[in-house]
Amino acid sequence: MEDCIFCKIINGEIPSHKFYEDDLMIVIADIAPKANKHYLAIPKKHYKSFTDMTGDDAVNLGKCIKKVGEIAPSLGLENGFRFVINQGEDGMQTVPHLHMHLLGGQKLNEPNYNK
Ligand code: AMP
Ligand code: ZN
Repeated sequence: MEDCIFCKIINGEIPSHKFYEDDLMIVIADIAPKANKHYLAIPKKHYKSFTDMTGDDAVNLGKCIKKVGEIAPSLGLENGFRFVINQGEDGMQTVPHLHMHLLGGQKLNEPNYNK
């Protein structure tokens, strides 16, 4: 999709530090890491969020999540990680192309879920 930063990363128009790629997703380093290790697992198909996904998107997202589990040790996340998807305005989603944050490489603090 035009003007989507993650679509541009996926098609190579914008450089990224890529750790993994297959036909469904890429895994890159987050440009502004919020933990010692902070990756973004980005499905290649553009859709904004859970609300916009089709049944096929959901099946493919499941495959991506399974793959994340398989490659986590090779990303230095063998001791565990936090898996986050921000959705919409209240979820503080800033890039409107669904993506999964993988945070780890340290013991993480509790996020601020409360007011
Ligand atoms: P979210 O707020 O959940 O939409 O997350 C968007 C994430 O994308 C943020 O953590 C940003 O630091 C990250 N980000 C934005 N631009 C880039 C980029 N060019 N390369 C890697 N990560 C990026
Ligand atoms: Zn996109």
